[in-house]
Amino acid sequence: MDFIQPLKYLGDLVYPKICLNCSSWLVRGEDSICLHCFEGLPRTGYHFQKNNPVERLFWARIPIAYATSYLFFSEKGIVRNLMHTVKYKDGRDPAFLLGKLFASELKENKSEYKPDFIVPVPLHPSRQRQRGFNQSEQIALGMAEILETEVRNDVIKRNHFSGSQTKKSRYERWENVQSEFVLGENPMVYGKEILLVDDVVTTGATMESCAQVLLDQVPKKLGLATLAMAHR
Ligand SMILES: [Zn+2]
Repeated sequence: MDFIQPLKYLGDLVYPKICLNCSSWLVRGEDSICLHCFEGLPRTGYHFQKNNPVERLFWARIPIAYATSYLFFSEKGIVRNLMHTVKYKDGRDPAFLLGKLFASELKENKSEYKPDFIVPVPLHPSRQRQRGFNQSEQIALGMAEILETEVRNDVIKRNHFSGSQTKKSRYERWENVQSEFVLGENPMVYGKEILLVDDVVTTGATMESCAQVLLDQVPKKLGLATLAMAHR
């Protein structure tokens, strides 16, 4: 017996397919956002520029091969709207879709994005439990499908002693000596080309901290990609 199909149709009835940004009905061939909103995405085009603003953000901080962001993030606008959907509703599909759109643009125009694997910036374990998934991982999964590579979550993890829930008095000394990120159970990155992926970059502090742990393992190349860039 096939229980799956009827449930799928029921799902379509309960959650009709509308554009995540403007709520208009989607037509055949449109996936999660309508063509109008897709064309209106505020693309940075940074991956077509040498020494683009994301790369400059990391100058004199960490030695990276390349860096880019797909979209501009602003407090009012389509990207925030979509990121809000990604973050606070069941956003697996939108995050995955945005990752695919991002990677399609990279693949078309920049042949150097050929990582051996993609590492998503891990969420703090308690936040991941709260939210149920890591949106950076969903973005990475969408990108990996287009770039024909894999996503690895066993390379790096978030330090349990970091984050807002830390009892400072108790773990103060730990915080001083430990990075926000530590190596995961399978940190084999030596000689590999890695793409580190996050949702939004602002100051670059989180990515820098994460990238440093990877760079200590001497990869061949490290590239950075975020779905959006916010102005400081
Ligand atoms: Zn729309």
